[in-house]
Amino acid sequence: MARLDRSAAVTRETLGHSHGGRPIEALRIGQPTAPRLVILLGRQHPPEVSGAIAMEHFLETLVTLADAGKFDAQDLQVLAVPLLNPDGVARGHWRANLGGEDLNRDWGTFAQPETRSVAQWLGRLPSQVRPVAMVDFHSTSRNLFYVQGDESSEDQERFLARWLGGKEHLIADYPFSIERRNSNPGAGTAKNWFHTTHAIPAYTYEVGDETDRQAVAQAARELAKSLVEALSLSELP
Ligand SMILES: [Zn+2]
Repeated sequence: MARLDRSAAVTRETLGHSHGGRPIEALRIGQPTAPRLVILLGRQHPPEVSGAIAMEHFLETLVTLADAGKFDAQDLQVLAVPLLNPDGVARGHWRANLGGEDLNRDWGTFAQPETRSVAQWLGRLPSQVRPVAMVDFHSTSRNLFYVQGDESSEDQERFLARWLGGKEHLIADYPFSIERRNSNPGAGTAKNWFHTTHAIPAYTYEVGDETDRQAVAQAARELAKSLVEALSLSELP
């Protein structure tokens, strides 16, 4: 975060504090008044390192694009929270935060200070700023994206097709699948909450635990570029 914060396009903010008093830090890319906001989340689950590696390269690419003027920072901003569970990471927890809860079951309830810090930040946004997409980085046994099921709107389907559609086998050593899951009310996942609350595409970016690290990085760079392209073309508000 310190390295990326050296870019003029980036500001670093503390959204709140964990149970253990550690800061919940965020990087913001673009202007705070830019009307379209993309939210990126990481490390809700402490051991999911391959997802964190993907997020690092994904963010680096977004900053590089912003520095090069390749996306309109007056129009588009990104809020990235790469370490949502700092206590769990520091203490080597398998799943939970220091409150003993799985943060990715707390979206909507917001009983935990880590998730609540993001919700409160969103609640303070100026009225012209609206979330347009959310991506939550995790790790599992293989590369995949959990996306919306048949509840997806036409705009959301267009966005999916532009960002990920047809790319499942295009990136060297990084095959992935797109798996549709309807939002389960009350599931408490970030994906569910952002989709149902903000009516936006909200995906879980799952990276295989054993996927080659160079391929993880390369895929993240390509997918960050194509995300910006998809948003530039998108008819999403
Ligand atoms: Zn996870």
